Amino acid sequence: MKFSNFIINTLKESPKEAQIISHKLMLRTSMVKQHTAGIYIWLPLGLRVLRKIEEIIRKNQNDINCQELLMPTIQSAELWKKSGRYDDYGKEMLRIRDRHEVELLYGPTNEEIITDFFNDYVNSYKNLPKYLYHIQWKFRDEIRPRFGVMRGREFLMKDAYSFDLSESTAFTTYKIFFMNYLKTFIELGLKPIPVKADPGAIGGNLSHEFQILASTGESEIAYDSNLTSKKLLDQTYEEINELYSASDDLIDKSKKDIVVGRGIEVGHIFYFGTKYSKPLGAKVVNRDGKNEDLYMGSYGIGVSRLVGAIIEAHHDEKGIVWPFQVAPFKINIIVSDELLENNVIIDIYDFLTDKYKDVILDDRLITFGKKIKDSELIGIPWTIIAGKNYIETGLLELMNRMTSEYLKISLEDLEKFDFEKNFS
Ligand code: ATP
Ligand code: MG
Repeated sequence: MKFSNFIINTLKESPKEAQIISHKLMLRTSMVKQHTAGIYIWLPLGLRVLRKIEEIIRKNQNDINCQELLMPTIQSAELWKKSGRYDDYGKEMLRIRDRHEVELLYGPTNEEIITDFFNDYVNSYKNLPKYLYHIQWKFRDEIRPRFGVMRGREFLMKDAYSFDLSESTAFTTYKIFFMNYLKTFIELGLKPIPVKADPGAIGGNLSHEFQILASTGESEIAYDSNLTSKKLLDQTYEEINELYSASDDLIDKSKKDIVVGRGIEVGHIFYFGTKYSKPLGAKVVNRDGKNEDLYMGSYGIGVSRLVGAIIEAHHDEKGIVWPFQVAPFKINIIVSDELLENNVIIDIYDFLTDKYKDVILDDRLITFGKKIKDSELIGIPWTIIAGKNYIETGLLELMNRMTSEYLKISLEDLEKFDFEKNFS
């Protein structure tokens, strides 16, 4: 990718509308543009990050045999009337009437539609458990959309749904998703804190949120300090849940020796048993040939919110510092005007593009200083500089965005250099 072919604008100053750092940086790097309150256009740079986050989530869901499908954004109101949520959901739900006066809605979540679909396809206990997910846009008419993509009205969610024969196997499923979420968020470069949570409009009696610490986070969380210091993935679900944790209304204010802070909710999982299967009549035949209600859970990740959350966790005074795996470009090659047509530089660019895919060559006719500033602002992990120094000594300069270290490197060494492993 050549910078001159890429649609990107970088701004020196933060637009006034942005209050928090992630929103400021997303606007300054033109990752997104607001179309209307809480509804965004994802520009090429932002979309690259969104897709990378999706891919990591997708891989992790597939790992636990959760199968991807794609449900529509527009749903029929009929099923929501059956579950009782058409009235309960209130003003957050965008209700629509088509030309025949049929009531539709823009899905804020998908429990009804998947329960109904699943019931048509799976009839026997022999086919359980089953897990399904999709990554689809949601609409919630939030009263105060704010902080950019953090609290949008239209936002991208990964939502998974599980179907089990009994409460006990459904609990095993819940634990699988819980551990899978920890792993997913860690792979995204975050430090998740799992906290016991209020199930809210989704319902049920067992629920956890996954929170990322940030002073601008909208949730209040309280937890045992061991929840962050211990290596979560080395522990079992039971060990993790022996430690105190809670969010918002569940917090016990009289509790001593706990850490209280603010968090960004990036994931939320629910066990709700037969709350939807009962009213929607979703049953399977059990071992004794009798009909049984399905035991269900649902598991959400705020994919578009994660873009903001990752920036909140990874930035400095110069701009964004993307973790390698979600960076929109891994390597930026900055060349001076006189080297733009240089075959050796073009060969390096082709070689690295083959190997790392997301490589950009800054061929804009602007100053070196501005190119370096932009690379730092956008947060590209590695910047290769080919300018005067290269012409004089044959060595390139390699800049690490995280450590700010400059390294002089020969062409041969550059070809062998592992950009992913060495980034820290
Ligand atoms: P919140 O408490 O932040 O309003 P929620 O509890 O209503 O979220 P869930 O129903 O749990 O949201 O949705 C699953 C995930 O979707 C959330 O954990 C969050 O990461 C994301 N999400 C929810 N609402 C929004 C929104 N308005 N904008 C962006 N992401 C959102
Ligand atoms: Mg929630």
